[in-house]
Amino acid sequence: MTAFPIPTLTGTDQLQLESVALSDIAAQFGTPTYVYSRKALTDAYRAYETALAGRKAMICYAVKANSNLGILDAFARLGAGFDIVSGGELQRVIAAGGDPAKVVFSGVGKTEAEMRLALEAGIGCFNIESPEELVRLGETAATMGKVAPIAFRVNPDVDPKTHPYISTGLKANKFGVAYDDALSLYRRAAQTPGIAIHGIASHIGSQLLDAAPVAEAAERVLALVEQINDAGIELHHIDIGGGMGIRYEDESAPHADAFLAPVLEVLKDRPEAIHLEPGRSLVGNAGLLLTRVEFLKHGEEKHFAIVDAAMNDLARPALYDAYHAVVEVEKSDVTADVYDVVGPICESGDFLARDRKLAVRAGDLLAILSAGAYGMTMASNYNTRPRAAEVMVDGDRCHPIRARERVEDLFANEQRLP
Ligand SMILES: *Cc1c(COP(=O)(O)O)cnc(C)c1O
Repeated sequence: MTAFPIPTLTGTDQLQLESVALSDIAAQFGTPTYVYSRKALTDAYRAYETALAGRKAMICYAVKANSNLGILDAFARLGAGFDIVSGGELQRVIAAGGDPAKVVFSGVGKTEAEMRLALEAGIGCFNIESPEELVRLGETAATMGKVAPIAFRVNPDVDPKTHPYISTGLKANKFGVAYDDALSLYRRAAQTPGIAIHGIASHIGSQLLDAAPVAEAAERVLALVEQINDAGIELHHIDIGGGMGIRYEDESAPHADAFLAPVLEVLKDRPEAIHLEPGRSLVGNAGLLLTRVEFLKHGEEKHFAIVDAAMNDLARPALYDAYHAVVEVEKSDVTADVYDVVGPICESGDFLARDRKLAVRAGDLLAILSAGAYGMTMASNYNTRPRAAEVMVDGDRCHPIRARERVEDLFANEQRLP
């Protein structure tokens, strides 16, 4: 058997996640269904904790990777903080039992309403991405009689060498404040009523397979920290963002300690706490999308396995041309063929995988692996398709964490003309 990105996926004739057979999950919850392993996400979190042992640190799970309350609950119970990018994500964190004091709020377009919500909740830090945002936050906090804890998200201008859509730390990106403006912004923030400076942040991109650009960013940030300190401003934390990559195909994905070692080396003599914002690396390989083959279609040039999941369920292949491994859930003795695994949506971009050797028949189950991050959170209702159910496996138990959407839900907020 090939090595699966999810190490806990075992079984001979039947694939199982932890101790639960995927076919049982399909029978109970139907398909398509996202299935997550609590053990896998716990192990991923613990790997960061271990790598950071002995350092004052906080691991803020990036909620946008997978914002299901069940997932957030699991991380909250592990003691995680959270990195959010909207007021809605903050409400999810609170609903899931997360500690607002451990929340960092990123994003270039925070509205006043979102700022109020976050100030009311008492979040740990606003990561500020523009001078205008500093002004808005200072004014909002002052009118509420509160003080907003902030860090500037600095754009270190290093090339993370990842997909251009998920690279965020270059001068040409919309994210963060310019490196050369940062010092004067800290000086200005120190004079702004309603603002308390807590730290500094950077996040250079996603699916990073090499730690070097992150360490380079940390060096650039550290040089700035020294200038900020020289200006008489103390920082409590240095937030180095998220972005650690995972194995989807045959990438040699880093381990948390190998990924962090060069960064920790750069920051080894610093008194500030280290904050991280990992998303994908905590949940990506902990989840899969379970789907059933509706039809096999043998075209003139290609064979298609038409499944009941589609680009609305998992957008990454259509959006980024991303690779997800696809495996048969039950072994059969049919001859393997090379298939494109496609959904029923009326778009040629509606594929989940291309040119995969699969031994399948109509009615068989397939598991699309490494789908725990940026899977369900990017799902849509395109073609009026209710979004999938979500289930968390925990040992030999299986907890539903999101019911399958019903079609009535999809147009509940719409109305006919008067
Ligand atoms: C998306 C994002 C993250 C998480 O990125 P991953 O690649 O999922 O680890 C962290 N911080 C910020 C500011 C983000 O926008």
